Amino acid sequence: MRIGNGVDVHALEEGIPLRLGGVDIPHTHGLAGHSDGDALLHAIASALLGAMGAGDLGEHFPSSDPSLAGIDSREILRKVARMIGERGYELANVDASIVAQAPRLAPHRERMCASIAGCLGVPQERVSVKAATTDRLGFVGREEGIACFATALLVEAGGGVRSDAD
Ligand code: MG
Repeated sequence: MRIGNGVDVHALEEGIPLRLGGVDIPHTHGLAGHSDGDALLHAIASALLGAMGAGDLGEHFPSSDPSLAGIDSREILRKVARMIGERGYELANVDASIVAQAPRLAPHRERMCASIAGCLGVPQERVSVKAATTDRLGFVGREEGIACFATALLVEAGGGVRSDAD
């Protein structure tokens, strides 16, 4: 088994779309970034790379690469998911937290889990997304940005990941 963690933070900017977990979320502000700014998918991709010992996201998807400008981050996650299989691993589960003061994310959690599971090619039960605020403290509390954290566990492929469906 191999475990990895990932963190990502993006600044909130007025008048751009908010995308988290590959899902468009109605809000006055969106996440700025070289890509679509999807900090949740970046944190998850980073956790998966960490579990593989494969370096960091910037190494694989450099922000200096013009072909990645405005890229749909689901494409990044799909590429990292392919690496998992190529290296002989299987995703046991991924757990992620979004730290945001606004908007309320609970109504979008299911859709985010489904979108992430789709990119990773795993059943939705292996993906967990949670949301928290900072009680108005710090840059998150001032709604200047959103932080995302993720932990992922990989197992050797064919090792038999136990699922609730078993
Ligand atoms: Mg990022």
